[in-house]
Amino acid sequence: MEEARLGNLRLVCECGENALETQLVWKGIKVRAWKCRKCGEELINPVDAQRALEIDRARKNRELTVKLRRVGKSAVITMPQVLKEIYHIKEGRKVEWNVEGEDKFSISVI
Ligand SMILES: [Zn+2]
Repeated sequence: MEEARLGNLRLVCECGENALETQLVWKGIKVRAWKCRKCGEELINPVDAQRALEIDRARKNRELTVKLRRVGKSAVITMPQVLKEIYHIKEGRKVEWNVEGEDKFSISVI
């Protein structure tokens, strides 16, 4: 099934009420989902669920842990292959560092 079609899909819950598109955090990752406004039943977008499972597996296998390396005078970190593949991130994309605290940074692909 194509992602674009899933995005437009209207779901009717087992209880008969329409489920509304929403966002959830599952396994620590933001995923698209539908939530029934009557009974609260939640269904995660299967494409996002698959991605979250792959990321969760990679995290457990320590594939998301990389070593800070030195190239010339710069400190370099590498993007884990699994993230590059899942999110189709190509060389040449710009990324931006976000500082969240003394020992916590995040990177936005822009
Ligand atoms: Zn329902």
